[in-house]
Amino acid sequence: MAGMSKDAYASTGFNTRAIHAGQEPDSLTGAVAVPIYQTSTYKQDGVGGLRSGYEYSRSANPTRTALEECLAALEGGARGLAFASALAAEDTVLRTLCVPGDHILLPDDAYGGTFRLIARVLARWGVDYSAVAMHDAAQVAAAVRPNTKVVWVETPTNPLLNIADIAALSEISQRANAKLVVDNTFASPYLQQPIALGADVVVHSTTKYLGGHSDVVGGAAIARDAELGEEIAFHQNAMGAVSGPFDAWLVMRGIKTLGVRMDRHCENAEQIVEFLTAHPAVTSVLYPGLPEHPNHDVAAKQMVKFGGMVSFRLRGGEDAALKVCELAHVFTLGESLGGVESLIEHPGRMTHASVANSPLEVPADLVRLSVGIENIEDLLADLAAALA
Ligand code: PLP
Repeated sequence: MAGMSKDAYASTGFNTRAIHAGQEPDSLTGAVAVPIYQTSTYKQDGVGGLRSGYEYSRSANPTRTALEECLAALEGGARGLAFASALAAEDTVLRTLCVPGDHILLPDDAYGGTFRLIARVLARWGVDYSAVAMHDAAQVAAAVRPNTKVVWVETPTNPLLNIADIAALSEISQRANAKLVVDNTFASPYLQQPIALGADVVVHSTTKYLGGHSDVVGGAAIARDAELGEEIAFHQNAMGAVSGPFDAWLVMRGIKTLGVRMDRHCENAEQIVEFLTAHPAVTSVLYPGLPEHPNHDVAAKQMVKFGGMVSFRLRGGEDAALKVCELAHVFTLGESLGGVESLIEHPGRMTHASVANSPLEVPADLVRLSVGIENIEDLLADLAAALA
């Protein structure tokens, strides 16, 4: 594949793009892995005489560029940008798209950190917002205001695994002259391609499935068109919340195996869903792959498979939920998700504590699993013991 132009990868399969896009062997040494360019600045051959376009690593760094080109290739966008975290990406995208007086529509079960950014940071700065049931397109259409500039979508949502219809929301956003931003963290580009369904921007916590090994915090924004990509890139440089070269390298290394990991995450999750659905201590299982999930049809239409995240509710309320979290061992008690190792957590007390007493509060009897890629027998035995 060496020597293929950047655009040539557009027609290759997902795994080929994950491994090669933006990652040509190093022109100086032939190194197959993209080098970690751990440098802040670049020697200039005379004032303004840049050797390869790089002048200062906040503006651009070759390791970050490799990741950014790969991200754009995976999501089918014109421009990818890598940030220090998803919240840094979200802040940069929202301040690119909104000014004081504008309005944002966001899901009433958005990731708590996204809600906090909008409700407690951007709102202070004069941006208005309202939270709606994003899985109900009619409610979204009714909630649009003349000053709505962004429709913010997460699908599946964290931790309730609701599904929003990206194509339907794209039509609503276009009619309203608003931009549709999709947080694709839970699905990853392997399972869902929001830009092909009409999204203007995709954001990711690359901390999760893209990185895949629970060893890096990072974020990404991918713009459908080059002009918007350039505006976000301007804000990325102006605001400065960029990914460092080593973090970019770790995410890129994780991305190479995204496809094979996601296949195993999905297979394991399906077996765990089957086990939990039949368990007497469990009152409901939240998983878009279940035919009884309220938006299963939409999920089946826009996702390749249904992902590695599973939430469930327990007969014994909060106490039972906390106990399961404490008794599991192979499932490590911890926040975050999307790594090779299985994690268990209590959203009400942990990841979603920031939305307590708000309209986004999550049920106290809810447990969330990030199903890893360990042997399924060990995962099932661990849950069986914790639920006994
Ligand atoms: N979006 C979703 C769906 C998330 O689950 C998270 C973190 O859990 C974030 C955004 C924020 O990610 P980060 O911690 O990389 O800023």
